[in-house]
Amino acid sequence: MCGVVGYIGKGNAKKVILNGLKNMEYRGYDSAGIGLYNVVSGRYEHTKCIGDVSSLEKRLDDSTSHCGIGHTRWATHGRPTLSNAHPHISKAGRFMMVHNGVIENHRRLKQTYLTDFTLTSETDSEVIVQLIEQFSATEDAEQAIVKTLSLIEGSYAILIVDQETPNRIYALKNKSPLLIGRKDEDIILASDLLAMTEVAQRFAVLEDGTFAVIDTDGIRVYDRAHNAVTLEYEAVDVENWDASLGQEPHYMLKEIKEQPLVIRRQLDKYAPETTLDLPVDVIRMLRGADRIHLLGAGTSMHAGLIAKGFFENLCGIPTEVHIASEFAYHPPVISEKAVFILISQSGETADLRACLKALPRNENRILTITNVKTSTLAREGDTVLDILAGPEVSVASTKAYTAQISMLALLAAAVSGRFDAYREL
Ligand code: GLU
Repeated sequence: MCGVVGYIGKGNAKKVILNGLKNMEYRGYDSAGIGLYNVVSGRYEHTKCIGDVSSLEKRLDDSTSHCGIGHTRWATHGRPTLSNAHPHISKAGRFMMVHNGVIENHRRLKQTYLTDFTLTSETDSEVIVQLIEQFSATEDAEQAIVKTLSLIEGSYAILIVDQETPNRIYALKNKSPLLIGRKDEDIILASDLLAMTEVAQRFAVLEDGTFAVIDTDGIRVYDRAHNAVTLEYEAVDVENWDASLGQEPHYMLKEIKEQPLVIRRQLDKYAPETTLDLPVDVIRMLRGADRIHLLGAGTSMHAGLIAKGFFENLCGIPTEVHIASEFAYHPPVISEKAVFILISQSGETADLRACLKALPRNENRILTITNVKTSTLAREGDTVLDILAGPEVSVASTKAYTAQISMLALLAAAVSGRFDAYREL
């Protein structure tokens, strides 16, 4: 899970993008790159490096820019080399692009549309920018991008700039997260809310299949059928988003020490007067269940193993725990009143999204428990409970794991009415 950032505004694009990339460093990456519109040369110029964002920063000069795109890469196709790092540039140099995700049909696209063409990288991503340039020979940039969008399959958060239209970014989104944030005339695009908290006051989540055109005149957003879409913005809530290291030597220690704070925050929200106050529809859904299926990957699945004890011992409801990566291949027999609880720190776990295909939809039987209430799984489940752990930067999960368990304990306590969760927690 690496990241993309794009920015257009009155501020210093280089600074905003580098800050955004730094705030997503916790996701891991092997190389980084940036493309900035240089107001003196009147062109987008790019810089890449193997290694971290501060090495990239050292290679950049002081030129002024108010628009650009940046990327941290976690190689999926091709080695972590300079030529495979993003941005990728189209052959005649007109388009520049960063991509986060995997283009599954990249080989077929190359064979069909780019015969005799030698790609400059080993990545699956480069075909996108080469296709756009090829189609732009007969169509305008926007049409060329829409045509490319109709051909690519896979997961992507893609940002594109065109030398012929400075101060404009095109964005494409499917399965990889992409958010858009605003404050006055500043517009920022990023894979993660953490990358935009310093710039944006409000933000919107882009849906799968989105195509967006962002420039100084505003934002146009379209769905797969090219119908205009109105974005729904919400305030950037920085309250639980303190991602700075503070006095601690590293994030894992900081996050371990935050565990009591996180549980107190949960109690403030879900048990404000020392009695539990959880959404009635969630309690009703679970009280009516003949079986609970807890689904998660890795650490979240382990939180599920603990919660199985809560639901069976306190509520008397038979409970099964499933590893998300297996569930879609071997779904169990689903009883009439089965309820499914999807547990995911990020709310973006791809294996859990695959599980949704095997689950009954729109029947109010799917609850998502996540740390990111704006995430894809939060929106795709029937209801959602936010574990309120704040950003977990350390890859080893500590406070999010504890918060998943305490959230599930509060839930089992509310369903059974047999456990003084407030006092115990
Ligand atoms: N699949 C692309 C590559 O290997 C993008 C990887 C990423 O998401 O960073 O370059």
